Amino acid sequence: MPNNDGVMIGLEIHTQLTALKSKLFCSCSSDYRGSAPNTFTCPTCLGLPGAMPVINKKAIEFATRLALALKCDINERFFFFRKNYYYPDLPRGFQITMYNKAGGKAFADGGIVPIRIKDKVKEIKLNRIHLEEDPGRLVHEGSISKSPYTRVDYNRSGTTLIEIVSEPDMSSPEEAREFLKQLLAIIQYTGICDTNLEGAFRVDANISVKGYERSEVKNINSIKEVESALAYEEKRQKLAIKEGRELIQETRHWDGQKTIGLRNKEFEADYKYFPEQDLVPIEIDKSYIEKVEKELPEMPKERKERYQKKYQLSEFDSEVLVLDKTIADFFEEGIKSEKTFGPQEYKLYCNWLMNDISGWLNDNNKRINETNLKPKQVVELIRSIKEGKITGKIAKTFVGEMMKGTAISEIIKKSGKEAISDITVLEDICKQVIEENPKIVEDCRKKPKAKQGLVGKVMAKTKGQADPKITREILDKLLKELGIN
Ligand code: ZN
Ligand code: MN
Repeated sequence: MPNNDGVMIGLEIHTQLTALKSKLFCSCSSDYRGSAPNTFTCPTCLGLPGAMPVINKKAIEFATRLALALKCDINERFFFFRKNYYYPDLPRGFQITMYNKAGGKAFADGGIVPIRIKDKVKEIKLNRIHLEEDPGRLVHEGSISKSPYTRVDYNRSGTTLIEIVSEPDMSSPEEAREFLKQLLAIIQYTGICDTNLEGAFRVDANISVKGYERSEVKNINSIKEVESALAYEEKRQKLAIKEGRELIQETRHWDGQKTIGLRNKEFEADYKYFPEQDLVPIEIDKSYIEKVEKELPEMPKERKERYQKKYQLSEFDSEVLVLDKTIADFFEEGIKSEKTFGPQEYKLYCNWLMNDISGWLNDNNKRINETNLKPKQVVELIRSIKEGKITGKIAKTFVGEMMKGTAISEIIKKSGKEAISDITVLEDICKQVIEENPKIVEDCRKKPKAKQGLVGKVMAKTKGQADPKITREILDKLLKELGIN
């Protein structure tokens, strides 16, 4: 990526710790999705007078896990702050969060997320990560600007967020996309958040052209939308500069097509941060961190390296395969039960997952564990291709049926498309093809590549059911008899 056009992008990601059973400061369940509004609340998360917050121990463990996975420096002593502002989704009038100024500290500082851009690895630095509570949710009818009313649902109020703040290290919307892909993979692997759940992560994207004011596009909840919003903003800012218009520091909203100015950016002093007196300072020591580190699950990078070594997949294949943990789990589940598989079959399995199956999942907007596809079916599919029961080409037409969970043998039977591998049958067809295509046969005398044309004719005659390997062998033999090598 050209780094010289002076675009600077920094991201702030709010990720919800969806694997926590209870909220950050009370015992309400944080598994509120799909429940009736305002049924997962208590005096603490409703901000009623006199209600006292108590820290969720597991949230500290999860934050430690993420900090370790992102290679941040964990601050061993910290306390919470009140960030004061008024908004209907924030019943107390302040958010309990962390602050790295005024004597305060973030949960952890620094950190690194490596990304790959055009075969080069670039390390995107993080500034910090911190814990805070999520506000409630405002519900509108249709779009926020046209809705006749606003309703408030406090079920989300007080659930746990980790805010991840990057340095402005990214220099294009593509880099921002790659960064988010890798970051979300790491989060998914730590087991603290199911990033596929609605609203489980929200991104604020800061972008500026060097030497000019920046804008912040708030609250975008998909990687694709972040990339589009940034591409739009880059164009808008560069055009303004070219036309000599002034850029101001501001907050903007992405509506799916364009960004719209919302308000001048508020500054930190506007929030009047001060220490949260109802919570004691928290200390975590080295032995605690070591204990969490020991239990840290395998991360995408380690898994990728393991796949290269154990299954002899290329670096590219393993990198793409491990990016989505559910896909990588599916891969491993399938091949571990199959003793006869070797590197060739692993590669085939990987290709099927990355191409045909992922393609189907994208088209149908589903995740692999939301379908009836079982790892064993893909094993059976690959075995059927290897054993010549079906051709790879015909197997591709089975995907839709496979996703319903139908056994491969049954699909083959129903389709009537078993591969033709009977030598006498194939030899008859090959003889016919040679007779019918004297011109291609003549071409074969000059260039051996022309043989492929005959294979194609056999395939056409058998509607793709001829076993390509046996067909080639028979054609070679027959042509040899005609004096063609
Ligand atoms: Zn509560
Ligand atoms: Mn925040």
